[in-house]
This record gives sequence, structure tokens and C-alpha cells, in this order.
Amino acid sequence: MNDSDNQAPVLPPAVLPGTPHIAYRGGELHVEGAALAALADAHATPLFVYSKAAMLQALDAYRRGFAGRHATICYAMKANSSLAVLQLFAAAGCGFDIVSGGELERVLAAGGDPAKVIFSGVGKTRAEMRRALDAGIGCFNVESEAELEVLSAVASEAGRTARVSIRVNPDVDPQTHPYISTGLKGNKFGVSHERALATYQRAASLPGLQVVGIDCHIGSQITQEAPYLDAMERVLDLVSEIEAAGIPIDHIDFGGGLGIDYNGDTPPAADALWSRLLARLDARGHGGKHLMIEPGRSLVGNAGVCVTEVLYLKPGEQKNFCIVDAAMNDLPRPAMYQAFHAIVPLQEAKQPAAEAYDVVGPVCESGDWIGRARRLDVAAGDRLAVLSAGAYCMSMSSNYNTRGRAAEVLVDGAQAHLIRRREAAADTFAHEVLLPS
Ligand SMILES: *Cc1c(COP(=O)(O)O)cnc(C)c1O
Repeated sequence: MNDSDNQAPVLPPAVLPGTPHIAYRGGELHVEGAALAALADAHATPLFVYSKAAMLQALDAYRRGFAGRHATICYAMKANSSLAVLQLFAAAGCGFDIVSGGELERVLAAGGDPAKVIFSGVGKTRAEMRRALDAGIGCFNVESEAELEVLSAVASEAGRTARVSIRVNPDVDPQTHPYISTGLKGNKFGVSHERALATYQRAASLPGLQVVGIDCHIGSQITQEAPYLDAMERVLDLVSEIEAAGIPIDHIDFGGGLGIDYNGDTPPAADALWSRLLARLDARGHGGKHLMIEPGRSLVGNAGVCVTEVLYLKPGEQKNFCIVDAAMNDLPRPAMYQAFHAIVPLQEAKQPAAEAYDVVGPVCESGDWIGRARRLDVAAGDRLAVLSAGAYCMSMSSNYNTRGRAAEVLVDGAQAHLIRRREAAADTFAHEVLLPS
């Protein structure tokens, strides 16, 4: 991640990153028709608030890109796995890309169709495989030859057939795309280009397996088109090779990874990106295949904010700190990846702010920061919105420092639905057991 935090805007940008559904109206920050100040009054802070319209709008961009195709959009739910969010995408016809047995249970609890579930991840356990087979998932995206052998054994023992795709590692040129990290040689994901054909031949020979597809996923927060084109060419080379060896490939799954606007980032629009990629696919004669993608961040990231209250201002000789009630347990991306989230006041700023603050949380770690050197006109008790917080925030949150997870609200027009109650302290230790006295 290369989101360096040095060029903070003096005023909150007139147009906030990412979505028209989160904007100032009459000087007050709104998510669709709901004023964030009123939601924070009603539900306290820290509070995640999502726009349903923004999620569906992001989905529609992909749908336009794939119009007229046999295509399935499998939401990569690790980006935000809250049940109501899954419910929304399930109702919109999406499948799901899962990476654990726990995620499968969430899909089922949210009413998702198991036949549209694909199971990714390098470390699937036998128990997870068995549960997924019993649930009747659409496809296992197998990441290694060893996994293939185990899946064959588990499926045979269960008297079932596992539909499989093999995740190939397209080894997209690191010289040109240095920040893309899951599709390169030397990382833990997928099977190398060189081993792909042999792995398919092994899959075709094993009992309990049915080869149905091929998949790749080259990285995350990708803001350019070239890596997708490169990966597509590499994958299509393999499809030709595998089919020439007599193994039909029914679907091609191009993974996820499309970036969003955190800080003036300009990723291609999903529809424009896919119309260009599909033109290439057609040119290579594979446009009629069942196509799949696994977008996560780009469906939800810009659709959410985290509202937080300023607890204390702490002026210093070198730095001023703005201590807020959200922390790295709620918003882990800055601590984990030095990632940038825009931070804006709920009341639109009318003039440039005089002071710059490091915005930090209450957790006892120096890594607990949310934004650095942000120009803000703030006082204790004011509330701020951390933007682009719909992806990889709540789903990565923890109870560190015995902080209960935040509440979540999903806004639909003027209606606000509480979709997750705030965790009480007792919830955080409900599964713990005292020693006998
Ligand atoms: C995380 C992940 C995705 C989604 O990535 P985004 O960058 O959120 O779009 C898709 N596929 C796989 C296999 C993943 O691990």
C-alpha cells in the first residue's frame, strides 16, 4: 500500500472521495438521507454507517461491464462480512467468495445461495472442506497440489464430488507493478504458471473431483488497468494449454482487487475496465465462457464511514494530538498498512483550519493512529467521520484492550437500520472460563 499521508487537504474536499451518497447537505454530513450527527446521537460512537445505494451503485458498475455475458459476481466477503451487507448482495443476485468455514456459515445465515459460493484460501482444513461439500458450494478454488490431494480424499470419503478451479499465479511483471503483491512468484498464493498444467492433469485424474474452472487474483487496491490485462493474457495462455490437453475449462474467474478512492486515487471504473478486458477476451475467443469475478473493496469501501468523537486535544511541542474514541481495533488499516483514510468534520468547515493534528485512538500502542498531520478545526466533544471505511475495517476489527466492537448502521434512503449492536464488555469475555476456585 502506498497511501502516504503527507498531503492532507486544508479543507475537506468539496466532493468527498468515492460516492455521491456520502456528502454535506446544508453544511451537515449525510449518508443518503440520514444526518450522521443524529445517528451518532442515537447510537453513540464509534459508529460505522453504510450507504445501501452506494453499495448497489458499485455493483451496478460491474453489472454494466458484464451486460449480456454469462457472468457471476462473487462478492469477496472478507472486505465486510456483516450479515445485512451479505443479505443485500445476496438479494441483488451475487455469489460470494469465502476464505473460511466461518464465512460460509455467515453466507448461509444471511440467506445466500451456497451454489454461488466459491471457496478460496491457501489453508482450508478437512472439516471446512467437508462442511462446504455438504452445503453444496459452487467451487473450491484450490491453491496447491497438496490441497488437491486432501480435497479428493475428503470428497471421496463423503461420497461427493468437489467442483474445482485451480488458482494460478500469473506472475505479473513486478518491474511495472511493484505494489501488487499476491500474483507474483514468491508469495504463498496459487500454483505457478509452470506447474499449472501438471496440476490440472493431476486434478483430472483424482477421484471425487470435477475440474470446472481456472482462477487468479493478483492483488488489492489496484488502480491501473495494465496488471489486469497482463494477468488475463497469462491466464488465457493457460486455458488454451489445459484445454489442448483435453481438460475443458467451463469458467474463468479473474479475482478481485480493483482499487477505490481513498486519497485522490483514480482507479478505472469497473464498467470501463471490464468492457476493455472483455474486448480482449473476445479477441482471444473466450468471451462465451462463464465468467466470474471476486470484487471486495470496490463494492463496499467507499460506501461506509466511521463516526468518532473527539475526547481530548493534546497540544505538543512537536505535534498536536487529537484523541478520538475510535482506535486501531476499529480501524486497523493505518496501523497495518500505513493506509490513508480521509477524516472530515460532521459540520462542513467554512475556513481553513489553523492546526494540524495526529488523530489517534485510546489503545496503548504507538501504532494506534488513524491519520497524521490532519488540518482540523476541532474541540473536545466534536465528531469526525473517517471516510472510505466500508472495507477491511469492521471485518478486521478486534477486541484489543477489551474494547467492544462498534455498532453498525445501514442507511437506505431516509431510513437507518441498526445492523450490529455495540458489543458490551461482557460480550467480549462471554466465552472465557474462570479456573475452579
Ligand atoms: C481478498 C480477495 C479478494 C478481494 O480483494 P479486493 O481487493 O477486496 O477486491 C478476491 N479474491 C481473493 C482470493 C481474495 O483473497
